[in-house]
Parts: sequence; C-alpha cells; structure tokens
Amino acid sequence: MSASLVTVAYIGATILFILSLGGLSNPETARRGNLFGVIGMTIAVLATVFGPRVTPSGYGWIIGALAVGGAIGMFAAKTVKMTQMPELVAAMHSLVGLAACLVGFASYVDTSTVFPTAAEKAIHEVEIYVGILIGAITFSGSIIAFGKLSGKIGGKPLLLPARHWLNLAGLLLVIWFGRQFLHAETIAAGMVPLLIMTVIALLFGVHMVMAIGGADMPVVVSMLNSYSGWAAAATGFMLSNDLLIVVGALVGSSGAILSYIMCRAMNRNFISVIAGGFGTGGGAPAAAAGDAAQPAGEVQPISAVETAEMLREAKSVVIVPGYGMAVAQAQHTVFEITKLLRDKGVNVRFGIHPVAGRMPGHMNVLLAEAKVPYDIVLEMDEINEDFPDTDVSMVIGANDIVNPAAQEDPASPIAGMPVLEVWKAHHSIVMKRSMASGYAGVDNPLFYKDNNRMLFGDAKKMLDEVLAALRV
Ligand code: NDP
Repeated sequence: MSASLVTVAYIGATILFILSLGGLSNPETARRGNLFGVIGMTIAVLATVFGPRVTPSGYGWIIGALAVGGAIGMFAAKTVKMTQMPELVAAMHSLVGLAACLVGFASYVDTSTVFPTAAEKAIHEVEIYVGILIGAITFSGSIIAFGKLSGKIGGKPLLLPARHWLNLAGLLLVIWFGRQFLHAETIAAGMVPLLIMTVIALLFGVHMVMAIGGADMPVVVSMLNSYSGWAAAATGFMLSNDLLIVVGALVGSSGAILSYIMCRAMNRNFISVIAGGFGTGGGAPAAAAGDAAQPAGEVQPISAVETAEMLREAKSVVIVPGYGMAVAQAQHTVFEITKLLRDKGVNVRFGIHPVAGRMPGHMNVLLAEAKVPYDIVLEMDEINEDFPDTDVSMVIGANDIVNPAAQEDPASPIAGMPVLEVWKAHHSIVMKRSMASGYAGVDNPLFYKDNNRMLFGDAKKMLDEVLAALRV
C-alpha cells in the first residue's frame, strides 16, 4: 500500500472515529457509533500493517501480537460482568500508558532514524520525554484506580502530610531531569534521567489517585480516560503517526470534557480533585467502601407486598437506580414492574444521577439493555423539581446519590454534591440489603426520615416479589 493510500485510509478512519464519538453521545445512536468505531479501527490497523513502514518480515510479529491481544480482549469481553466494567476500563487505560512508555524507550534506543538537524532531534527527544511522563502517570494512576474500583484498595483518601509540596517537588525534579536528558551526549547518559523521571512519574500517578476520596473517583476515572488519550497522542508523535495523534487528541479532549462535566455534577473544582484530596479537605475522611454506617435513629422496614400496594395506589412514581441495581442485575425486573404500572395508568419515570453506579452512563446502559424507553429516563436536573409532586420515589440499590447529608451537613465528605432529592416525595422506599454505606462510606440520613421505608434484601429478589404481588 502506497504512502498516499495510507493517508487516505487514515483520513477515512479519522472521520469514522469522529462519527463514532458523535454516535456514542446518545443512547439511541450508540450502537451505530460503536460500529463506526470498529470499522474505523479496522481500516486504521489494515492501513498501518500494509503501509510502507511495515516490512513483510514484521508480519509474523504483528499477527502473533494481534492473536494474543485479540484473544485476551475476546476473553475479557465475554467474561467481564457489567459491574466489573469500570475496573476493566481502568485496566485498559493502564495499558495505553504502558504502551506510551514502551514506545518511548524503544524510540530512544532506536538509532536507525537520522535527524537532519539538531533541532529535529531535540524535538523528538522532547516528544519521548513528555510521552513517557504522561504514559507513566497514566499507567500507575490507572492501576490504583483499578484497585479502588474493584474494592482491592479502600476508598479512604491517603492524605500524606505536605502532599502538595511533594507534588511540586516532583514537578521541579521532572523539569530538572528533562534538562539533563536533553543535554545528554550519549543514549546511555540520557537513559539515567529518563529512568529517574519515569520512577517519579509512576510515584506521582500512585500518589495522585491514592489521595482521592471515594466520592471523587468518577472524576479520576474520566480524567485517566483523558490522560490515556494524551498518552496515545504522544505515542503518535514519537512514531510520526498522524492518525494516532488525531485519535489520541480526540480521546484526550473528550475525556477532559467528560471530567469537567463530572466535576460539575459533583460540585467539585477540577484542579482541587486532581491535586489530590483538596475536595475532601472540608469533611471527615470517608470510610472504606461498604463499611457499616453508624445508626442515627430508627428505620421503618417495609415488605415486598406492602411496597406493591404503595406502588399500585400511586399516581406518579420515580425510580432511582444505583450501583446495587447493577450488582443485582435487577434492570429487567424493574422494567417489568414499570410496564405493569404504566398499564395501570401510573406515571413512572426514572431519575438518573450523573455518577450513579461505577462508571459514567452506567445506569443508562443497564436501562437501555432492559429496553426501558428513553423518554421516561430523565437526568437529575430534569427530575429533581418533580419530587414534591411524586407519590413514591423508589430507590433501587442507590445510596450516595440520594444522600441528603450532601445538602444538610457541611462537614460531610460529600457536602455540596448535587443529589436526587427523593425524600421530598410523599413517600420514599429504599431497596438495599443492609444498613451499609455506599461507595463514599458516608452514613445516609434518608434511611431514618419519617416518610421513608426500607425494603431490605437483594434488589432482584425483592423486585421479583414486588412484581409477583403486583400481578395478583
Ligand atoms: P453507592 O455505592 O453509593 O450505593 C450502592 C448501594 O447498593 C450500597 O449501599 C449497597 O447497600 C447497595 N447494594 C449493593 N448490592 C446490592 C444488591 N445486590 N441488592 C440491593 N442493594 C445492593 O452507589 P450509588 O449508585 O448511589 O452512588 C455511586 C457512588 O459511586 C458515588 O459515591 C460515586 O461517586 C461513586 N463512583 C461513581 C463512578 C461513576 O463514574 N459513576 C466511578 C467511581 C465511583 P447494601 O450493601 O446494604 O446492599
């Protein structure tokens, strides 16, 4: 394949990637967006493999790598549960970071490229240094995010004394070693500052994500998504691959926009979150995820049959799903109940919090999978003012996103975070297995409110019972 044909293929792939991103922004067009992405990536890979920069002697390596990588990807796609998607995404981000580091070191030791001028050589070295820097931060930060999202590392922020000074010192050292690297006479001499910077960047990635409290994790996930894009773009610069630069920039900038949206949803300052722990400074540190909350009053339990009775008598119902619905895989039963109630003339709608679940859009994906019509699925801002006119708000496996402490307790670690105001409905029912707290590890005063009832049990099991009672 000639170089010009490869360029045409790359332009085609770029257009498909842009269409893909556009499609993914709406649940109704998401499937088509995904398809555009798959076709774009296939074109990109084929054009690269059969392009002038790969010699036939390299085909064996490429086919071997494709077979191994493809097999791992297929295995992961088939075996990973929906609830494990966030940690899978974090693991994938870490691989992009690792790839950027490996390509950086390989480009540095590769002596086959001859640079016509010293300036071009210096530019290439800056690309290598910055590429490895971003790659190493993405790699180690994503591994810690993986640990936090999978519950292997506690959600409690690690707030080292003088942590901001540590970060500043790290930045200054990176700049100083960068200077050493650019002035190195030989590859061996340059390797020392390059390796030291890599270690500092790895430590910074660990420190940055460890310092972030449970409730701020959504911002970190989208931020690492953005970093992985910039790491890919840096790899593109190192390999002089235009497509990788464009695609990396697309992912990097869309991830940055998502981070901004997440910050707004959490009422957090972006810089405060990424500097680590600023966002948690006002309140008590969050306990590890799933810790039992301290009792703060009496809760009033309700049975599945009584829940069905309440729903049957309601004129309007708002369902608020959370992480527990994903764990219980209760979305199909939720939809069965929705259909039944709607057939009886009840106005049933869904209220979706931007950080419900463990990844952006988590609830929308589950509800779309269960074929819940999009027009009854509303964003938090669209539904919040309707709660006072709602008869029953039914919370299914959600906790932090319906916690009134965010509004009522300035000392709470989630203070200021906008929440779904389910307690303003005439009645609220919270469906969960125990009194355990949510991801942020914060007690929830909603459970003790006079108009709230607790339906204890696995969400799928309890909803099956509610459905059976509704059908009687
Ligand atoms: P939470 O984690 O706050 O609460 C989920 C609740 O579900 C738990 O209290 C748990 O209680 C209950 N639960 C778990 N399993 C079941 C089950 N099988 N049946 C019934 N209930 C169950 O989730 P929310 O969705 O309310 O809030 C999301 C949290 O995750 C926020 O703090 C957010 O910041 C954070 N986060 C979000 C990310 C995102 O991008 N969306 C990424 C990372 C973190 P019990 O054990 O008693 O059943």
